[in-house]
Amino acid sequence: MKEFLLLAKRFISPYKKYLILNILFNILSAFLTLFSFAIIIPILEMLFRISQAHYEFMAWGTGDLKDVVVNNFYYYTQEIIADHGQSVALAALAALLVFMTLLKTGTAYLSAYYSIPMRTGVVRDIRNLIYDKVVSLPIGFFTNERKGDVMARISGDVTEVENSITSSINMLFKNPIMIIVCLVTMVLVSWQLTVFVLILLPLAGMLMGKVGKNLKRASLEGQTQWGVLLSNIEETLGGLRIIKAFNAEGKVSGRFKKENERFVRISNRMNRRYELAHPMSELLGTLTIAIVLWFGGTLILTGDSSISAASFIYYMVIFYSIINPAKDLSKAVYSIQRGMASMERIDKILKADNPIKDPSSPRPLPRDGKPSIRYDNVSFRYAQNWVLRNVSLDIPFGSTVALVGQSGSGKSTMADLLPRFYDVNEGAITIDGIDIRQLRVHDLRSLMGNVNQEAILFNDSFYNNITFGVHNATMEQVEQAARVANAYDFIMETEEGFNTNIGDRGCRLSGGQRQRISIARAILKNPPILILDEATSALDTESEHLVQEALDRLMKDRTTLVIAHRLSTIRNADLICVLHEGRIVERGTHDELIALGGQYKHLVDMQKF
Ligand code: ADP
Ligand code: MG
Repeated sequence: MKEFLLLAKRFISPYKKYLILNILFNILSAFLTLFSFAIIIPILEMLFRISQAHYEFMAWGTGDLKDVVVNNFYYYTQEIIADHGQSVALAALAALLVFMTLLKTGTAYLSAYYSIPMRTGVVRDIRNLIYDKVVSLPIGFFTNERKGDVMARISGDVTEVENSITSSINMLFKNPIMIIVCLVTMVLVSWQLTVFVLILLPLAGMLMGKVGKNLKRASLEGQTQWGVLLSNIEETLGGLRIIKAFNAEGKVSGRFKKENERFVRISNRMNRRYELAHPMSELLGTLTIAIVLWFGGTLILTGDSSISAASFIYYMVIFYSIINPAKDLSKAVYSIQRGMASMERIDKILKADNPIKDPSSPRPLPRDGKPSIRYDNVSFRYAQNWVLRNVSLDIPFGSTVALVGQSGSGKSTMADLLPRFYDVNEGAITIDGIDIRQLRVHDLRSLMGNVNQEAILFNDSFYNNITFGVHNATMEQVEQAARVANAYDFIMETEEGFNTNIGDRGCRLSGGQRQRISIARAILKNPPILILDEATSALDTESEHLVQEALDRLMKDRTTLVIAHRLSTIRNADLICVLHEGRIVERGTHDELIALGGQYKHLVDMQKF
């Protein structure tokens, strides 16, 4: 419960207004319930001809308010009976009952009405928070946490929180109010009976609680399994091409069905337990009522009680209207347990530590816009093994430095350190002599443009994909960037030109076209530093030519770190570094390295056949 209050404090505070309205209407509704049921007493008394007393009108404001209200109510009833007969009086009382019930249900509806924006709002806030957190967390976080699992947390767990916790909010405020109001009334009507009830109720409650003990655990298990299923689906969607090519439909399908079956088994267990709560509490509730009925009835029949038969029935009605809120309350508490399990999983993301932080007093970017880069004795590891070891490298402004080496030698890692996708473990990377960790991350990345092997595009128009990194580009600038990137012609050939949607991740384009769009994007951003990681590796020779041409224009007057698989593309670099197992083993120009006759020459020879 303490956890829940903390949670409420965290998320409900923006919705105080709704909360107050909700509580207000709940209180109103609880009192109206009492009054509407109270009308039953005179009706019963009349039917059974119990009361023979005569009532005189009492002036408002004299004596106890409750006594005056009750007295005058009876007085008016008596007047109606005298003037119009009992049948009309009965009809009037029934009409009053309907009217009071209308008010009661109306206020109950209003309280629910105001709880809804609170509920949807909290869920929206949680979803936004997770999304922002996912975007801000470093790339490294998502290799540890599986993507499907993150998706399960965003979708499944948030929905679970919505269904269990937030939908219980109304119940949680409504029911205690209702219960307290009813209990107080019960004490006023007959304290002897109420003491008896107060002994019975907790016993019933304890029995009910037993049913739901394992639910939180089962729920946690269920959500985890849901994550497994989602990972599975996401992997399948990504690998559909290979699955088909290898005729592996049956295999993946079998695997999916097995996991799905497991999920079903957990769900069955969880839901059966959940469903058990209702009949159990109904039975226990009736049992309690039966006992109270017997006890109270005996009191009345033996004639030594302070309670009249009509009041006793009123008492039973009030008591009966406690059973439901009590049931709901236990269900809500129980639901919240389930939701807290999901909230725990969500908090794993929300409270994850982000190691790539802005410094407390960031240094401004160097003014001249002509940055030079230095890797100073840099060492780095993802986990246990060092991936880069004592790497030092100078990249003066305007020069092109190429990294070559076998796959897995650490080239991409070296490039990823520059925009601080990861932080170095030892040594430092500086820009114009300033350690990049002393710059604001946003400032640092504004200096850089990336073109990678897989062009990363978004399901949007050409225009929006090209202007992705800039705020206020004119159409001329965008067209110009597309021209420089050799993308203008094929864009204009599409139906709606720059407004054409390129499909999910650019699936309606060829590899070379996608790459030229990502180059246009980098051109428009116009960064002084450029990182090209195997930008042409995935392309055929024809489109490689077009892309290379675009790249050559892009690289002009910039500091470029280029990683290339095809050595033909880096022949003209100012400096070529050969990486081997995380160390720079050779460096020089193309001609120097060929003359050296070492690893570089070996790599070139291998590509020459
Ligand atoms: P290259 O780009 O030269 O092919 P990488 O820099 O991608 O090489 O990888 C260098 C080494 O680091 C490889 O041994 C690879 O297995 C490892 N590695 C790459 N990325 C990660 C990662 N996110 N987590 C753990 N190890 C990684
Ligand atoms: Mg690589």
